[in-house]
Amino acid sequence: MAILEIKKFNEKVLRRRAEEVKEINDEIRKLVLDMEETMRANNGVGLAAPQVGVSKRVIVLESGALINPYLVRRGGAKLFDEEGCLSFPGIYINIKRHNKIKIEAMDVEGKEVEFEAEGLPARILQHEIDHIDGIPFFNRLGLWDKIKFKLRHLSLKF
Ligand code: ZN
Repeated sequence: MAILEIKKFNEKVLRRRAEEVKEINDEIRKLVLDMEETMRANNGVGLAAPQVGVSKRVIVLESGALINPYLVRRGGAKLFDEEGCLSFPGIYINIKRHNKIKIEAMDVEGKEVEFEAEGLPARILQHEIDHIDGIPFFNRLGLWDKIKFKLRHLSLKF
């Protein structure tokens, strides 16, 4: 296993829609193990493959890895909470997200899984699925907050 370098700020891989995983082979299994180690080494609660420079639809959470995760339903109230991101170190912003979601995905053995999540796990899943769709978290800010965010972090060249 290896701790991988985390891509940051305006790297292109963070802005690209990641590709579906066609087959869970040794390469994907190794990617998952390395991502889990990288997430833990950085005290993260989730990590998406584009964040380590791999444009594939793979995410890892404390509860395990999901391959080709798909948000089949979003519901509940949309709530604000503070989020951080390993690709945007030191930046914490309030983002509005759905409180309840339903996910379909594959686990690392290739078994189809389907489950509901609520509260913080739902928030983390939406954040990570945004990553594999090439959407950085500040894109979820409202228009005015986005302008303020860009002014404040102008030096990062978004
Ligand atoms: Zn993130």
